[in-house]
Amino acid sequence: MANTRTVTIINGDGIGPEVMAATVRVLEALKVPLEFEHKDAGTEVVAKYGTNLPHETVEAVLRSGVALKGPTGTVVGGGLPSANVGLRKRLDLYSSLRPVKSVPSVKTRYENVDLIVVRENTEDLYAGLEHIIVPGVVESLKIITEKASTRIARFAFEYAKRHGRKKVSAVHKANIMKLSDGLFLDCCRKVGREYPEVTYEEVIVDNLCMQLVKDPTRFDMLVTENLYGDIVSDLCAGLVGGLGVVPGANIGERTAVFEAVHGTAPDIAGKGIANPTALMMSSVMMLDWLDMREEARRMESAIHKVYSGGTVRTGDLGGGATTREFTDAIIAAL
Ligand code: NAD
Repeated sequence: MANTRTVTIINGDGIGPEVMAATVRVLEALKVPLEFEHKDAGTEVVAKYGTNLPHETVEAVLRSGVALKGPTGTVVGGGLPSANVGLRKRLDLYSSLRPVKSVPSVKTRYENVDLIVVRENTEDLYAGLEHIIVPGVVESLKIITEKASTRIARFAFEYAKRHGRKKVSAVHKANIMKLSDGLFLDCCRKVGREYPEVTYEEVIVDNLCMQLVKDPTRFDMLVTENLYGDIVSDLCAGLVGGLGVVPGANIGERTAVFEAVHGTAPDIAGKGIANPTALMMSSVMMLDWLDMREEARRMESAIHKVYSGGTVRTGDLGGGATTREFTDAIIAAL
């Protein structure tokens, strides 16, 4: 048996503690050689720490190298900076990886969707460099660097090579943002030339959105800057059944944080009805990243088995199962 690894668990806000408890139950039932160290982040711990991202939480993830995270809330138009953005910056989790795959028996407009969205995580308009020039005029800076663009392009092509993906489409708006998106494209082209086995193409972001809703199977992998990636990955989630079923990972050179794509879902928090699939699928990605492949496949196929069965579904997918009932079914299917 492999050595026991420590995973930092960050429950987060809203439905975070509910979907996390469900996911940890499944990991424990799998008997993976993991040890869980719980740390705080999010709006609900601000009163205790004076911040939504306590130093000791960042230190813990740096030590363990891997975290499983629930969603954390962010106030719109004011308040503290996002704990998510802070965590990604502090740990240099430069790549957001979101596999978007049709879930067995979850009926949506499309079947056989199988997309990988690779989003740059550290710069672009998310640098948060905004200032008021004069009252009524605000400037927000879009930062695009050769270093970050080359790094994310290389991540995408390396992923394509390792996982046998055929095509990488670089997403841009360089017809308007000629310098910034132009630089991003230059970097993607340069890196792409080193991977002749992978087809490279470029697609303007608005056209991409239209093409995705018309026929998502036309695309294989997307590599994007931060803002387009944020929007496009939620659009892609909608193609396969919504935010409740899509996993995600934020990956750096030495550290990775696995988390669901969805937010804190304040409308259903505390009711015990949240769908834990996205965080469970994020744990499957985590197990793969930790090289615990056998356990990853067992957990993944248990989730697929429950969906294929068609009877145990949470409310977001039209069913009546509670989070606990759904989790019991997954554990029984392991
Ligand atoms: P949301 O994802 O929380 O909710 C959107 C809708 O989807 C809601 O109706 C919600 O009930 C539903 N939903 C989401 N996850 C679900 C699940 N697992 N099961 C069943 N239904 C689910 O998005 P929002 O309302 O835009 O954001 C709420 C808060 O979450 C905001 O503060 C936002 O900043 C934060 N947020 C955090 C993250 C993160 O931590 N990674 C990501 C997105 C949003």
